[in-house]
Amino acid sequence: MNQTQTTEAAAREPLLTMHQVRKAFGSNQVLQGIDLEIYPGEVVCLLGPSGSGKSTVLRCINQLETIDSGSINFKDEYIGVRPKNGRWFDLTERQKARQRREIGMVFQKFNLFPHMTVLENIMEAPVKVKGITPDAARQTARDLLERVGMAAFGDRYPVQLSGGQQQRVAIARALAMDPELMLFDEPTSALDPELVGEVLDVMRELAKSGRTMMVVTHEIGFAREVADRIIFMADGTIVEEGPAASVVGSPQMERTQQFLSAVIH
Ligand code: ADP
Ligand code: MG
Repeated sequence: MNQTQTTEAAAREPLLTMHQVRKAFGSNQVLQGIDLEIYPGEVVCLLGPSGSGKSTVLRCINQLETIDSGSINFKDEYIGVRPKNGRWFDLTERQKARQRREIGMVFQKFNLFPHMTVLENIMEAPVKVKGITPDAARQTARDLLERVGMAAFGDRYPVQLSGGQQQRVAIARALAMDPELMLFDEPTSALDPELVGEVLDVMRELAKSGRTMMVVTHEIGFAREVADRIIFMADGTIVEEGPAASVVGSPQMERTQQFLSAVIH
């Protein structure tokens, strides 16, 4: 293999692979064997009706839930477990924490620490978890605030900000750990309609910068414009996936067609 071929082969290695992932809550089989791959630099939007298992997919990737069977592979390691002699062993809390910090998550509810300023919120994890010096972390935090259009708000407390501003800070906070993968779970669903655009703008910029992103959203226009690929889920399975223009523009499955005609006005 020459150098170019080697580089291309590396680029085709998925960053994340879910293989036959199953998850139940009691008798409710929420994920019924999910197979998906996310490649470096890809932006993948996850669409589907409420209750279809979208959040559970993200929560399993980020180890907020454990899976019942199947596997999740991230950067050539299994998430949460390690195979040995044909059996699976749970990773230690320390090992799980190391995996978690490479995956950033932004939730519907902004989840900022209310007793900390905006700057302190963003500096917290880099200082406490990565051991970055406060001065360096503050500088990075300021750069990130600039990037999300919040440079003037570093000394404010979350309660003094609008929902859209809080969500932009939450995105900056996740980026402060420089994660390989960013997960967004309906990041604009809790916002007043006039504040949705400012958050989507920040996400659009992130996508352009090459950040690998998985985004659960009901913003079909955003998905169509920004996603490299759309995955449509219903009842714990992947019904259809493909390039954004084809899944939204000419969905093949009836379930997808029904969903899209209900949400696109
Ligand atoms: P979506 O994000 O697509 O709306 P979820 O992944 O949140 O769907 O939920 C899928 C199903 O799993 C729903 O029926 C939901 O009620 C159920 N569920 C999610 N989390 C839990 C939990 N912690 N305990 C019990 N049931 C849950
Ligand atoms: Mg959800």
